[in-house]
Amino acid sequence: MHIEFSGAAREVTGSCHILHANGHRILLDCGLFQGRRAASREKNERLPLPTSDISAVLLSHAHIDHAGRLPFLVKHGYTGSIWTTSATRDLCAVMLADSANIQQRDVEFLARHGRDYVEPLYGLNDAVQAVDQMIGVPYDRWLDIVPGVRAMYTDAGHILGSASIVVEVKEGSHTHRIIFSGDIGRDDQPIIRDPSPPTGGADTVLIESTYGNRDHESVAGARAHLARVVRETAKRGGKVLIPAFALGRTQELVYDLHELWRAEEIPEIPIFIDSPLALDATTVFKLHHNIFDRTESLIQDTADPLAFPLVKFTRNVEESKQLNVRHGPMVVIAASGMAESGRILHHLLHGASDPRNTILMVGFAAEHTLARRIIERQPVLRVFGTEVPLAAQVEVLNGYSAHGDRTELKAWLDAVKAGGIKARREIQHVHLVHGESSSQDAFAAQLRADGYTVDAPEPGDTRPV
Ligand SMILES: [Zn+2]
Repeated sequence: MHIEFSGAAREVTGSCHILHANGHRILLDCGLFQGRRAASREKNERLPLPTSDISAVLLSHAHIDHAGRLPFLVKHGYTGSIWTTSATRDLCAVMLADSANIQQRDVEFLARHGRDYVEPLYGLNDAVQAVDQMIGVPYDRWLDIVPGVRAMYTDAGHILGSASIVVEVKEGSHTHRIIFSGDIGRDDQPIIRDPSPPTGGADTVLIESTYGNRDHESVAGARAHLARVVRETAKRGGKVLIPAFALGRTQELVYDLHELWRAEEIPEIPIFIDSPLALDATTVFKLHHNIFDRTESLIQDTADPLAFPLVKFTRNVEESKQLNVRHGPMVVIAASGMAESGRILHHLLHGASDPRNTILMVGFAAEHTLARRIIERQPVLRVFGTEVPLAAQVEVLNGYSAHGDRTELKAWLDAVKAGGIKARREIQHVHLVHGESSSQDAFAAQLRADGYTVDAPEPGDTRPV
């Protein structure tokens, strides 16, 4: 019995691990590789193994770097079950359809630039079929996956529906226990519940390590900072422009603005969510009220924490264009988070040169992205090929990360270990996944100093379990 690290090994995208157990091959996630176009395309086009060899897929959450290659598996003949939480299944209906559109636009872009025709990685039909093969399951119940293998999903507190997965494999008289962390969230994030580390211990733990080398700003500090930015910008008559991921980050911002409006900490100015994908994702949130964090007062007090009089979603392009000519004060939240595509680009084209405006950066900004150039306050931005002087204020808010920092990741692992001591099951191996080398090396050193046996497998490595 062994595990093969097929994706998100020494990097953060393409999450995919293959558990070989009892003659079965079970995939943990099947995400898209992202980054430089040519290199990621090559990796995405390689199946992790022939689809006829796959017995089942266990999916941790709906982010594209975890779920984004499932339609590709289906396109290439995978007809088996994809187990995941009900909320993840519903979010995948929205996210995978959007991903299919992006694949199509990518191919059109290449064709326009004179490249040879390549086929989209997958189409809308494949995305729909993948969702059809998903079995929506509740948290904290054992599920029989294949003979001799069962699994349980616990709340990972990362995005709506996100899970850590406990897998138990019976081999003769021994039961092996493997825990796959998925992506681990933070305590006190709005809307969703805090991470709930699986109990009962494990022999082997696969743990994410995105921020294994740093600590974040507090969640409460982020909300106060948001209020100050909105107040100051409104006073100048400007617009607050926020590039944000449509899934997760946008809903958190709406929730926090609702809370701030209730507490009269922000003025009565319109808040536009200018993203059809965010609107669809928000609709899915509303279907899954049952897994919201019931300890939060806004969730206790209101029927719909994601709706209040100031907020308006714009779906069609005309409405979106009107926002460009409309005068402030107002808040505009639009995708994409890294300002590389999406409607936020139009708002930046029209708004970045106005000193009354604020561009508020709330997410991770990779190198070579427009978001990164804004954070670096470069004097001139290039948007749609046009040079735009950056005269708007720039504010950076680090408290909105959906990933636990090194202290929170360590606390999660310690909790798993403590559960194991109670159950007389000691962790034998910790494998770090989903992290850049620098982050993993720092985190591994910290864990080793604390007595854990740790490694960070390379792509294609296998380890016994
Ligand atoms: Zn994630």
